[in-house]
Amino acid sequence: MSGLEYPGDLLGFADDLTAAERAKLAQLRAYLDEHVRPVLVERWESGQSLADFRRPLADLHLLDDPGLLGHSAVLPGGARRLRPLYRGFVTLELCRLDLAMSITYGGQVGMFRTLIHAGGSPEQIATWDPGILDFSFTGCFALSEPDHGSDVAGGMSTTARRTAEGWVIDGAKRWIGNATISDNIVVVAREAGGDRVLAFVVPADAPGVERAVMAHKGATRMVHNADIRLDGVVVPEERRLPRIESFRDINRAFRSLRADIAWSAAGMQLGAYAAALEYAQRREQFGRPIAGFQLIQDKLVRIVANIAQTLALAVRTTTHPIDDDVSPSLIKLVAADRLRESVALARETVGGNGVLLDYDVVRFFADAEAMYTFEGTREVNTLIVGRALTGHSAFTR
Ligand SMILES: Cc1cc2nc3c(=O)[nH]c(=O)nc-3n(C[C@H](O)[C@H](O)[C@H](O)COP(=O)(O)OP(=O)(O)OC[C@H]3O[C@@H](n4cnc5c(N)ncnc54)[C@H](O)[C@@H]3O)c2cc1C
Repeated sequence: MSGLEYPGDLLGFADDLTAAERAKLAQLRAYLDEHVRPVLVERWESGQSLADFRRPLADLHLLDDPGLLGHSAVLPGGARRLRPLYRGFVTLELCRLDLAMSITYGGQVGMFRTLIHAGGSPEQIATWDPGILDFSFTGCFALSEPDHGSDVAGGMSTTARRTAEGWVIDGAKRWIGNATISDNIVVVAREAGGDRVLAFVVPADAPGVERAVMAHKGATRMVHNADIRLDGVVVPEERRLPRIESFRDINRAFRSLRADIAWSAAGMQLGAYAAALEYAQRREQFGRPIAGFQLIQDKLVRIVANIAQTLALAVRTTTHPIDDDVSPSLIKLVAADRLRESVALARETVGGNGVLLDYDVVRFFADAEAMYTFEGTREVNTLIVGRALTGHSAFTR
């Protein structure tokens, strides 16, 4: 064992990591603890991005270390696949520190890369993938709009019109994470005069693209979400992802990402649990550590039980390929529920200090609200599962 402990993982899911994987994760944790943890309070308060840590994280070669890739499978385009359990623990480890660090890094190597692999041609993948991994070709994903969130599949107003020069995109996007620190924005648009839904890798500095950081955010404060305007933005056909032509294709690309929320939720719970346990052992009331009170132990046990349930879901995704649109919704809504309960219990354990950033639980508490909403709200995911169970769609009256 390489000193990589996961207090709170009572069922020992981490025991299935190989020695090489544990060593890599320990390296990641050491980097995060030494360099990122010390700046979290100040950056959270000032809403400053963690983008400067992306390159150093890329230099750790978490996803392209030849030692780890040795026993992996080859994907179309020549890329190799790491063991899903290890990939999951990378996300977990980042979220155990802070959700914003995970989004700042994973929005690129998880979301953006997944979209390129799911929608791009073999040539696009081969050209862009090395730059995605070393952060010299950065990107984000723009689907949500100011007037269309839950109903974006049916109501999207951003359009792409075919012309002699390529495509002309007009519209607006909202909430787009990492947009102001990315070279590219994957913009989803409805084909004007057609019924296809298309995706374009739009250069962020293309004429007609305007990005503005959304201010006054109370969750994921270190992730910069942006409002984006697209006015007559010309994009060549070579920057269209040819294997995305409908919402079904987008959902296909996003299955694994939605299910990955279980890893993020497990990581955040482990982070909040560690802070709550440490506090409970240190803080004395009525002449003894609060950890000795039954009602405090009840909270800690409920958090650990939630962690076990969330990790069980996460690990299930590594042994059972997600190839439908319903199970990711079930996984996401259960994981987000467990997370929301756990961070509230951790916050409660730390009492009044639980709302102070210095005590390391309120970041998780606030950020759980963001996670509860993105990758499909509880309602939307419930409607997806409910439709599959009953055969009746309850999205509209
Ligand atoms: C921190 C954060 C980061 C994000 N990052 C991105 C990103 O990078 N890229 C991106 O494209 N988007 C992103 N989003 C957007 C996110 O996907 C949307 O917020 C989400 O889809 C919900 O849309 P909405 O906020 O417009 O809520 P609305 O759709 O307006 O919903 C409001 C409420 O009504 C409920 N509701 C809606 N329809 C129904 C119905 N039929 N029945 C019952 N209840 C219903 C919803 O569940 C919700 O509770 C992000 C959001 C947040 C908060």
